[in-house]
Amino acid sequence: LKQQVQQNNRLATIGQIAAGTAHEIRNPLTAIKGFLQVIGHRMKENGQQKEHGYIDVMLREIGRISSLVGEFLMLSKPRHIKVQSVNVVKVLKDILPIIKNEALLHNIDVVIKQQLTTIPMVEADGELLKQVFLNLTKNAMEAMKDGGLLTLCLKTDEKRRQVVVEISDTGPGIPKQVLEKIFEPFFTTKENGTGLGLPICRQILCEIDGEIRIKSGDKGTRVLVHLPLTKA
Ligand code: ADP
Ligand code: MG
Repeated sequence: LKQQVQQNNRLATIGQIAAGTAHEIRNPLTAIKGFLQVIGHRMKENGQQKEHGYIDVMLREIGRISSLVGEFLMLSKPRHIKVQSVNVVKVLKDILPIIKNEALLHNIDVVIKQQLTTIPMVEADGELLKQVFLNLTKNAMEAMKDGGLLTLCLKTDEKRRQVVVEISDTGPGIPKQVLEKIFEPFFTTKENGTGLGLPICRQILCEIDGEIRIKSGDKGTRVLVHLPLTKA
């Protein structure tokens, strides 16, 4: 827990630094991206295949900087989190098209299971909750490079007054030495990773009295998100 507090403090500091610079980076990037697209179109029209390929690489790299800056902004927002009673099924439904589209591109099947005994109303900020589920399903899909199965399972645990969303994949799993570090800001094993996805998820869940647990060995990963049921 002490480590978690330290890591959250570190995230807050990163956020403060990012607040001052992220916009300054994003605005010029938008301009560069726009003009590169124009140049790319012209090159295509002129049959400059090779040069067009270079432009594509540049646009992709700009995309990477953009998403990193986007994550910085996530940390820097003085988030007035709006905690309300939200239906987890609705939150998931809203982001399902995005997930399914990504899955289709990577030969991944998506299965949704519901084991609910009540309407899964939880005390949370719906937009931030979407962010959490998108980060986690993204990780799951990135782990299944050759396709696989993504399962989203919804349960209610009435004894603990919680809704549990389980996101599991059939990827390679997480080795023990890696598992210890995955919540550290900037820890990543991916070439294009930022290492901010899980720390952001945990921070968001922490703010709404939720919890995240990850179970993984050498076959597949299960991520459990616990959310507090709205008091009836
Ligand atoms: P990023 O995705 O940018 O690397 P994250 O904080 O989202 O950053 O994840 C940190 C690391 O945790 C990943 O680089 C990966 O090694 C590991 N990880 C997270 N989710 C999974 C998963 N479902 N399967 C395997 N490894 C995972
Ligand atoms: Mg990630």
